[in-house]
Amino acid sequence: MTSVPASTHVAIIGGGIMGVSTAVHLLRNGATVTLVTETELASEATGRSLSWLNSAGQRSLPYHNLRMAGVDRYRTLFASDPARDWLQFGGGLYWSTDSTGIETRHRHDYESAHGYDSQLVSPAEIPVVAPAVAPVAVPAAAIFNPGEGWVSLPDLVDYLMDEFKARGGELVLNAGKAAVIVTDGRASGVSTAAGQVYTADAVLVACGAATPEVVAPLGVGIGNASPVSMLVITEPVNHGITAVMNTPRAAVRPNPGSTLALDHDWYEDRFTEHEDGTFSIPEQVVQELADEAGKLLAGNPGLKPASWKIGRKPIPGDGEPVFGELEKVPGCHVAFTHSGATLGLIAGELLAGEILTGTKHPMLATFRPERFDR
Ligand SMILES: Cc1cc2nc3c(=O)[nH]c(=O)nc-3n(C[C@H](O)[C@H](O)[C@H](O)COP(=O)(O)OP(=O)(O)OC[C@H]3O[C@@H](n4cnc5c(N)ncnc54)[C@H](O)[C@@H]3O)c2cc1C
Repeated sequence: MTSVPASTHVAIIGGGIMGVSTAVHLLRNGATVTLVTETELASEATGRSLSWLNSAGQRSLPYHNLRMAGVDRYRTLFASDPARDWLQFGGGLYWSTDSTGIETRHRHDYESAHGYDSQLVSPAEIPVVAPAVAPVAVPAAAIFNPGEGWVSLPDLVDYLMDEFKARGGELVLNAGKAAVIVTDGRASGVSTAAGQVYTADAVLVACGAATPEVVAPLGVGIGNASPVSMLVITEPVNHGITAVMNTPRAAVRPNPGSTLALDHDWYEDRFTEHEDGTFSIPEQVVQELADEAGKLLAGNPGLKPASWKIGRKPIPGDGEPVFGELEKVPGCHVAFTHSGATLGLIAGELLAGEILTGTKHPMLATFRPERFDR
């Protein structure tokens, strides 16, 4: 086992929620931390996430359990100050494309069977569970999940970074593409694109969709299925929405400043990738998504997109999270996952524990990177 004493130095590559959360949990446990990121904090998926906190629908039991623990940590944070405008628990509302409601009922049955709080609601019941949602938009049946919530990840990163600074963490912004340094077969630090070296006793690669590319030079293969995605933020609107909505043509969540955050996937083939690695989409598609979202709101207020960001949404090749130390490179840990908003706090907590004690957490047992090699 490759445990390091808590007084030692951990270098983290990646300034998204995974890197920042793990950094703060390491600092709380007495480690020295250097956080190195390519440009600014929250520059990638964390800066453009719908960040619905949930374990709705079907997935493996270990993944479900981890997500439930993830929601639990957010509930603890929420209870410490329920007035934060960037973390709220207003429930989640879902319905499928099937207008008969059969698919929605199957999902409800599945969720109920393993104790997930799931209520089947008719259009007439919508105003009771989800104020400001247009009942006419809802087909035969919808699911209301009262235990779900949402977070604005850039605000959470700001909040965690206050603690990071107060606990003496070292932050290196605009490092360009950093890499893991390996000495005698063990991770020994991080080098930046400009050649700056940060030696460390352990390294965490938390590079979102770029994680497989960062560990590839170490001889480690991790499947990558990260699609291009977009998050739209609307102009402020008097909407009254409290629940996150996941519907066939638009996903909607409240966002600070009386704005709404919107996403979906029906426009995936409308993205253009440019030579510099950036993406664009026709503005009319963005407005179409805003129009679809507007139809879900009582009174159908016209929604106007204020900004939209496009880039890769981190998803490992088999859809399950990838967490833990690399067998091939002791001292090098990875964090690469879908649903990184829901998992942000719990993953940081468990990974920090593994890095500092060397004891593998049972909740991460099925998420090890080596499964892609076997
Ligand atoms: C549109 C969208 C909707 C989503 N909806 C949800 C949802 O509803 N619920 C949910 O739980 N999750 C959701 N997610 C997923 C969640 O937002 C992500 O899983 C999470 O933000 C990933 O955080 P991360 O820290 O792993 O990666 P990122 O936020 O991508 O951060 C990685 C960081 O690493 C840096 N980096 C990369 N390579 C290098 C390098 N070589 N050197 C230095 N730095 C490097 C990048 O610049 C970036 O800052 C969504 C994501 C998107 C995009």
